[in-house]
Amino acid sequence: MSLLVVGSVAFDALESPYGKVDRALGGAATYFAVAASFFTHVNLVGIVGDDFTEIDAQIFRGRTIDVEGLERTTGKTFFWSGVYSENLNERTTLVTDLNVFADFKPKLPEKYRSSKYVFLANIAPDLQRDVLKQVKGTPKLVALDTMNYWIERTNSELRETLRHVDILVINDSETRQLSSEHNLLRAAKHIFKMGPSTLVVKRGEYGAMMVDKRGVFCVPAFPLEEPHDPTGAGDSFAGGFMGYLASAGKANDLALRRAMVYGSVMGSFAVEKFGLDRLRALKKPEITARARHFYKMTQFTL
Ligand code: AMP
Repeated sequence: MSLLVVGSVAFDALESPYGKVDRALGGAATYFAVAASFFTHVNLVGIVGDDFTEIDAQIFRGRTIDVEGLERTTGKTFFWSGVYSENLNERTTLVTDLNVFADFKPKLPEKYRSSKYVFLANIAPDLQRDVLKQVKGTPKLVALDTMNYWIERTNSELRETLRHVDILVINDSETRQLSSEHNLLRAAKHIFKMGPSTLVVKRGEYGAMMVDKRGVFCVPAFPLEEPHDPTGAGDSFAGGFMGYLASAGKANDLALRRAMVYGSVMGSFAVEKFGLDRLRALKKPEITARARHFYKMTQFTL
């Protein structure tokens, strides 16, 4: 089943205790699409400027990613810059330049309009809604990610978009900011009133937690001795999560639990190297092996 994603395609400048890069290909939709493409066909919607080269575009080639919906225009590609704390747990945004995204009016290619699985990756909530409106009929599953940048600047637009969303996939600090609740279970109750019926909270090195009306399901993060760059871990998590669900063609409890594991698997690969370097070189058998590792790591008897 094909999976539609809209979100940033970007150049990032990153600094972590492990090093520094001035121009790494990134963006929420880029990480998401690459991670999800290991599981299913992905239709990508976004925009890049004329600084986006053929070499940059190669990240999408040779994968099941359709880029007909990736518009090219004159101007600069979205630029983001961030710096990580010593333990990699905290991140400070230094620069967010929307550039070509500021005036982007997406027009979905006809073949994208029948997508049944939709991921509204991190970008302006109005833009997320605009893309969702162009999908024909009712998709099977709509999930959304967002960030403090949008929660602070476009709160009412975000609330409007959330009314049309089934699963909210965000990190712990954003969950608290959006709900004004410190406790994540209480936060989930608030968020359910906004529209989504499932909340997936990404908690960095502490793994991820899913809350829905059936209860709570948690997965750990894969313990790594040397994580290098957490950028894109959340988007790669979402790519594994939604990619698995689209490939399974269902979203019952069992499928959602497996999706959480595949999300955590993909997030763990993303942080192993800078930018997209690890995902770029990843092979499907490595994903299967790591999922088995998760199984062993979490099995116990009562
Ligand atoms: P993550 O580490 O998974 O939260 O996502 C990191 C990616 O999000 C980076 O590659 C950035 O280019 C992108 N990004 C950062 N800020 C924003 C924003 N305000 N809107 C959309 N994408 C963003």
